Amino acid sequence: MKTEQIVKLGHYINGETVEGKSGRYGDVYNPSLGVKIAEVPLASAEEVNEVVALAQKGFEKWSKLSVARRMEVFHNFRALLVENTDKLAALIGKENGKTIDDAKGEISRGLESVDFALGAPHLLKGDHSVNVGGEINAYYMKKPLGVVTSIAPFNFPVMVPVAMSVMAVAVGNAMILKPSEKVPFSALFVAELWAEAGLPAGVWNVVNGDKEAVDALLEHKDVKAVSFVGSTPIAEAIYEKGTKHHKRVQAFGGGKNNMIIMPDADIDTAVNSFIGAAYGGTSQRCMAISTAMPIGEKTADAFVARLKEKINELKVGTYDDESADFGALISAEAKANVLNAIEEAIEEGAVLAADGRHPEVPHEEGFYLGATLLDHVTPDMKIYKEEVFGPARIVVRVNTLEEAIDLINEHEFGNGVTIFTDSGSAARKFTENIEVGMVGVNVPIPIPVGYHNFGGWKRSSFGEGQMFGPDLVRFFTKRKTVSERWFDTAYNESKTDFNFPS
Ligand code: NAD
Repeated sequence: MKTEQIVKLGHYINGETVEGKSGRYGDVYNPSLGVKIAEVPLASAEEVNEVVALAQKGFEKWSKLSVARRMEVFHNFRALLVENTDKLAALIGKENGKTIDDAKGEISRGLESVDFALGAPHLLKGDHSVNVGGEINAYYMKKPLGVVTSIAPFNFPVMVPVAMSVMAVAVGNAMILKPSEKVPFSALFVAELWAEAGLPAGVWNVVNGDKEAVDALLEHKDVKAVSFVGSTPIAEAIYEKGTKHHKRVQAFGGGKNNMIIMPDADIDTAVNSFIGAAYGGTSQRCMAISTAMPIGEKTADAFVARLKEKINELKVGTYDDESADFGALISAEAKANVLNAIEEAIEEGAVLAADGRHPEVPHEEGFYLGATLLDHVTPDMKIYKEEVFGPARIVVRVNTLEEAIDLINEHEFGNGVTIFTDSGSAARKFTENIEVGMVGVNVPIPIPVGYHNFGGWKRSSFGEGQMFGPDLVRFFTKRKTVSERWFDTAYNESKTDFNFPS
């Protein structure tokens, strides 16, 4: 077994790296090798309370700066993210297992959110009405909330925390980011980039931890808003606890995303799109395609036959292997969960069309699985109902587009969906009637760009508001409406009025 020197990490608080004080640590792995590489401190409630107090001070300073001054820091931060892309991509690959190219892709998608946040001077404008009556002018301002928090998942160590958080800071809040304890390196590195960009101390803090730290954030009276991304059961619990403590909460959960393949679709295009969208990033994406729904037996047979050929060409490898199509799963537990889901599906009657349970791997201890395809899956099977966060994908054969739409609409998740077709009317029927938040037509993964809104429906998200785009400005600000009248000294007429003005 390979060994590596084990690093003891800290938190990033008030502009500096600090050691953990709780005495509790989590293990961080290099999934490509399957070896422990670091210990990450798990913050206590007392440590969280100290950070909130420091972030509150940071907020008071930062929120008073003009938005133009704040944007200077953002311009610097953007340049530093670009300059450090290679370094950051290597960190992501090492702690998460995804390939360097995929890691670079997530950094560039994160940059979209920074670009959109650079529009804060425009986005913070309020409306102004002149002489709404009695020479009164009315306008509103968008004020930051104060200290806010983002609680992030492991699967996008940079893109998701950046997408959740940069707008919050652009509009004047102070951020406490609680990254996944499985991938703390990237978050700590990004915090250093913020400091280098000139962000004042206390405005971007990284607290590492688990449930104890999250609960302390959810319960603290000075934490005003919570943005969460992770699995559905935790998203629901965060939403319930956060709102109970009177916070704004947006909580994004898991998904089970479908690709419909119409009989008129080009099979090669559909297969190539499915391969990347289904197995890319080792299928550890909330927007990964989990389910292929070919319409009609003929389409299904052609699609599965072509897909099997392509799957056999896929290669798993270490994050820095340029020839690898995808890397290792995040942990031994994640690998065991996927294997278990495959076994259960076979027991329930699914047909194993491609078996990735024993791929050729570069390191025996790495958390690898190859691409698996289960055909003839039916809606009553567990693998149809539940999110599988790894490369076990399914084919559900349906007879008509209407049947596919009904099935998808009945599913508990509603994150992403896509259709491959040459027919405008089929596409229109689909986009109009599907009960899913992010919809694609002839695109493999319909993730909106950073200046559009992102968010699933049904049990793929809880609370109100979306990630990315203009909705984030609303989520991270509150409105103050002012009605004002200035008396002309010549007109200084004043009288008492007991009625509402009419
Ligand atoms: P997770 O729910 O296990 O963890 C997410 C965060 O919650 C982490 O920071 C973790 O430390 C914290 N957490 C875990 N258990 C907790 C508890 N009991 N109390 C409080 N906090 C807790 O999710 P994950 O495994 O890191 O990420 C994968 C999941 O995230 C998948 O389900 C995926 O679909 C989902 N995801 C969703 C989106 C989206 O936009 N909808 C994006 C990325 C990932």
